[in-house]
Amino acid sequence: MTLRERALTIDEILCREYGAPFEPFGYRDPVSELVGSLLSHRTKNPVTRSAFLKLTETLPTWEEVIDAPTEQVQSAIAAVTYPEVKAPRIQEALRQVRERRGGKLDLEFLADLSVREARDWLEEIPGVGAKTSAAVLSFSRLRMPALVVDTHHQRVAQRSGIVPPKASIEKASQILQAYLPEEWDGLRVYDSHQGFMRHGQRVCFYRHPACDRCVIRELCDFPQKT
Ligand code: SF4
Repeated sequence: MTLRERALTIDEILCREYGAPFEPFGYRDPVSELVGSLLSHRTKNPVTRSAFLKLTETLPTWEEVIDAPTEQVQSAIAAVTYPEVKAPRIQEALRQVRERRGGKLDLEFLADLSVREARDWLEEIPGVGAKTSAAVLSFSRLRMPALVVDTHHQRVAQRSGIVPPKASIEKASQILQAYLPEEWDGLRVYDSHQGFMRHGQRVCFYRHPACDRCVIRELCDFPQKT
C-alpha cells in the first residue's frame, strides 16, 4: 500500500467512524473568516466566537476596525490569548486586503483562483500561515477544497506515518493536500479534516493516545502504540 492509499483509507475509516458528512459550522464571508481565524490561535472556539462578536459589536465595519486605536481593538478581543499581538495583526491584515484589492475589503475573488494560488495570496499577509489560509478558503462560504490541518490532524498524520514524524503544519498540509483526489469538492475535503481532527481530540491524545480503541490501529506506525 502506498502512503497515499494509506492516507485515503485512514480518511475513509475516520469519516465513517465520526459520522461524515459533517455539517459545516459556519457560512461567514471570507474576510470575517480571516479575522476569526487570526483570533483563534491557541484559543478555545467559544472564546474566539464571543471575542469576534464583541469586536463586531464594538466596531461594526472592518473599516472602523482599521481606523480604531489599536487599544480599542485589543480591549474588544481581550478574552483571546495574546490580544496585544492579535489586535495590530488583525488591523494590518485588513489594511493589506484593502490595499491589495484596490480599496475593497473583499476576498470573494479568491473563488476564481486555484486553491494554491488563493493560499499563496493570503499567505503574503503577515501572520497568515498554512492553517489560516486554508481555514479562510474552507470554512467560509467560499467552501473551497483547501485542507485545514490543525495540531490534532497533524498529530494523527505524523503518528500514523502518512507524513514524516516531525513534519510541520505547513509541510503536513502540503503532503496531505496532495494525497486528495482532484475531484473532491470543498465539503468532502472539509469532512477529511473533521475526521482526522476528531480522532486527534477523542482518541489519539497528545499524551497517552488510546491505541487500544483506535479504529486505524492496524494502519498506524506509531512506535509507542500501546
Ligand atoms: S494507534 Fe494510537 S498512535 Fe496510532 S493513530 Fe491510533 S491512537 Fe494514535
